[in-house]
Amino acid sequence: MSTFQAPKGTYDLTPPRSATFLAVREVISAPLRDSGYGYIETPGFENVELFARGVGESTDIVTKEMYTLTTKGGDQLALRPEGTASVLRAALEANLHKAGNLPVKLWYSGSYYRYERPQAGRYRHFSQVGAEAIGTEDPALDAELIILADQAYRSLGLRRFRILLNSLGDKECRPVYREALQTFLRDLDLDEETRRRIEINPLRVLDDKRADVQKQLTDAPKLRDYLCDACKAYHEEVRALLTAAGVAFEDDEKLVRGLDYYTRTTFEFVHDGLGSQSAVGGGGRYDGLSEMIGGPELPSVGWALGVDRTVLALEAESVELDLPATTSVYAVPLGEEARRVLFGVVTELRRAGIAADFAFGGRGLKGAMKSANRSGARYTLVAGERDLAEGVVQLKDMESGEQSAVPLAEAAAELAKRLG
Ligand code: ATP
Ligand code: MG
Repeated sequence: MSTFQAPKGTYDLTPPRSATFLAVREVISAPLRDSGYGYIETPGFENVELFARGVGESTDIVTKEMYTLTTKGGDQLALRPEGTASVLRAALEANLHKAGNLPVKLWYSGSYYRYERPQAGRYRHFSQVGAEAIGTEDPALDAELIILADQAYRSLGLRRFRILLNSLGDKECRPVYREALQTFLRDLDLDEETRRRIEINPLRVLDDKRADVQKQLTDAPKLRDYLCDACKAYHEEVRALLTAAGVAFEDDEKLVRGLDYYTRTTFEFVHDGLGSQSAVGGGGRYDGLSEMIGGPELPSVGWALGVDRTVLALEAESVELDLPATTSVYAVPLGEEARRVLFGVVTELRRAGIAADFAFGGRGLKGAMKSANRSGARYTLVAGERDLAEGVVQLKDMESGEQSAVPLAEAAAELAKRLG
């Protein structure tokens, strides 16, 4: 193993691809920022207890995928495997829910860690942009979040994604369904671990990705047939609001998702160009989570979109984001005096808000012009001794190839004018 290799299941973001990741985070969060969601940032690790209680002791995330550590002081911590529990914890700690302004709408962006088997689209370190609306039960809020995620993916230029929608019921109807499902599952031919899962969290068995398990589930009782009237009405309202907004979705009664805390609305965004790691994002309502972690009753809803898989989806659809050129002007000095003068012009341009770069290291004209080309700059400024003696710099338009002498004192203003 080379010393320069990133840890297994991780990768670095380096230019130019890293620019796409930044842009994706920007585009995904834009609709949230325009819809009353405030930015929140929480630590990269939490007390392990938060996830054990919040995400659930019966989930793969907690039992298999969490990076846990004991500090020198004896604290049990875990690198965060997801965002919702942390965001809710932080909102409760800051008493945001008591400011008399519900729902508390928050968005976040960051790194998450899961000890998984690395494969295409599945990493041990990945990044998400997420949103949570805390403290309000209103089908319009569920619809808002789904609509904003749809808007985000659309404005990225993605087309081949689908929205899967389901309702998981609430504390009235889900227990009844749970029991019916358990009775059905106990008669199936399943391995030990899955049998244990039937007793702890039978809904998760529906989420099993193995074909032989899925085949046996064809006649499993459907949650839809067990939803209470309140859950049914709520779900119908969410569906109607999405339809009215022109957001297409597919009812998927097997969609349960891997976290324990979901109630009622659950949804997943899948992309058809990604093979088996097809989920680009997901979320749902989690009315019981606050109480599970020791807080008051705060019905809430949220989602998290995976940035890594979203970038893979863009690549699968050959979508090129319209990334602004990082450098507008590239300065190439020929000789010591020109270095000092052009470095001054570059500083002036930057202070005027024009992205400019400079041929460092005293290279010759040829190498420096190559760098100018590679920078994507629209204009280069070249100056040698003779230009300086005449008080000019050579301004070259890299698109047309046109070159003209511009008085040194006017170079910055001329460039500002040309770049609009
Ligand atoms: P999967 O079923 O693929 O394991 P999940 O249900 O565990 O996904 P969530 O916890 O809902 O995923 O996280 C939301 C999004 O974060 C996913 O849709 C995905 O885009 C991304 N994501 C989750 N785990 C990973 C991972 N290990 N590597 C890359 N992205 C991930
Ligand atoms: Mg997972």
